[in-house]
Amino acid sequence: MGVWRPLKRIITAFPVPVTFASRMPDFQNTLDFARAQDAADPVRAFRDEFHFPQQDGRPVIYFSGNSLGLQPKGCAAALKQELDDWAALGVEGHLKAMHPWYSYHEELTAMTARLVGAKESEVVVMNQLTSNLHFLMVSFYRPSGKRKKILTEQRPFPSDTYAFASQISFHGGDPDNDLIEVQPRAGEHTLRTEDIIARINELGDELALVCFGGVNFYTGQAFDMAAITKATHNVGAIAGFDLAHAAGNLHLALHEWGVDFAAWCTYKYLNSGPGSVAGAFVHEQHHGKGLPLFAGWWGHDKHERFNMERTFKPMHTAEAWQVSNAPVFSMAVHRVALEQFDRAGIGNLRAKSERLTGYLAFVINEVAKATGAKLETITPAYPTQRGCQLSIVAHGKGKDLFHAITAKGVVADWREPNVIRVAPVPLYNSFEEVFRFGEILQTALA
Ligand SMILES: *Cc1c(COP(=O)(O)O)cnc(C)c1O
Repeated sequence: MGVWRPLKRIITAFPVPVTFASRMPDFQNTLDFARAQDAADPVRAFRDEFHFPQQDGRPVIYFSGNSLGLQPKGCAAALKQELDDWAALGVEGHLKAMHPWYSYHEELTAMTARLVGAKESEVVVMNQLTSNLHFLMVSFYRPSGKRKKILTEQRPFPSDTYAFASQISFHGGDPDNDLIEVQPRAGEHTLRTEDIIARINELGDELALVCFGGVNFYTGQAFDMAAITKATHNVGAIAGFDLAHAAGNLHLALHEWGVDFAAWCTYKYLNSGPGSVAGAFVHEQHHGKGLPLFAGWWGHDKHERFNMERTFKPMHTAEAWQVSNAPVFSMAVHRVALEQFDRAGIGNLRAKSERLTGYLAFVINEVAKATGAKLETITPAYPTQRGCQLSIVAHGKGKDLFHAITAKGVVADWREPNVIRVAPVPLYNSFEEVFRFGEILQTALA
């Protein structure tokens, strides 16, 4: 690891053709090869812990974990436990339930901290993603004088654009002037770190906040969060990240990178169910500093919460940003899902993921060669610059191709104007599925 990291950095500094990673030397486009990979996969057993949707009596090839993760089988029992405790205990469940509701979020803290590379005091599970972005921007987007711009990546998720623009308007600014996206170079689909940093330096003391996705939802590009954070701090601005597509997908080190704040949802890679509760990170350097925030009783010093005092006394942790009491049903599901990540280890998952997605890139390339189709993967080729998702532009095919593979049992997704996103996730997808995806793709193109 220690040797590989700097080496990877050096390698990734040079732009190379997308096909590079698709030609990983030892890959073979055969069922035997794929099955051998699965047999050697140390986290393969987790696949059996999930429910797979069926089509024509067989499990689908589910490559949409980037939209909505599959259901861990343990969720139903966890949810039923809370319903049973509620039935049996009523209000007493706050303290006497098997997992007391009063402090339910605390059961998620240690696992969450390990997942995102944070201290326990820096994370809290609460609300939903866009809500958390707003609550955090109340504290971390405070335009003043000429320092009022927000910088983000090209084509951020629409909800983030709405959140940024409405925060700017809320402070009396003009989103057309103050919300800036870093654009790729002509003819390129993704951003170069050096260009992001150059833009940060160019905007300098006009920048209030730099808020990127950890992984862009459309291109699948993973950003160099450490480098962006450092450059942002050098110009005196705040660095925040939307980790919707990064949490549970990448190896994160939010504390070490010095990230100021971050938020993520849990229903994508974190398999915690539709609209489930979200996560937030606030670096410890901002704790107990009296930052302005929108307060609620669950942010109040928990030892004195039930004194019901009129004056808000915030906790000296990320929990200060918590406004409401814990949504226990979502959290019960999230707890089961987090426990899986904890047992598997994000390091093991990421190692498998790099190989699994590398295999997918290889298989797509083989199919392109065999059929003569022009399948362009706009996601970066180097593993350090992407998560598990590949975004494919099928020139001249597009939506028809997407419908054809869907009819054959592939659950991928289509994003306007012309991208098919496929995301094999390491917890429950297999090399065999990637191989079978290639077969289906090839048939659909033939
Ligand atoms: C999925 C996603 C969202 C969704 O926001 P919710 O508040 O969870 O509905 C927002 N931002 C990004 C980057 C996403 O990928």
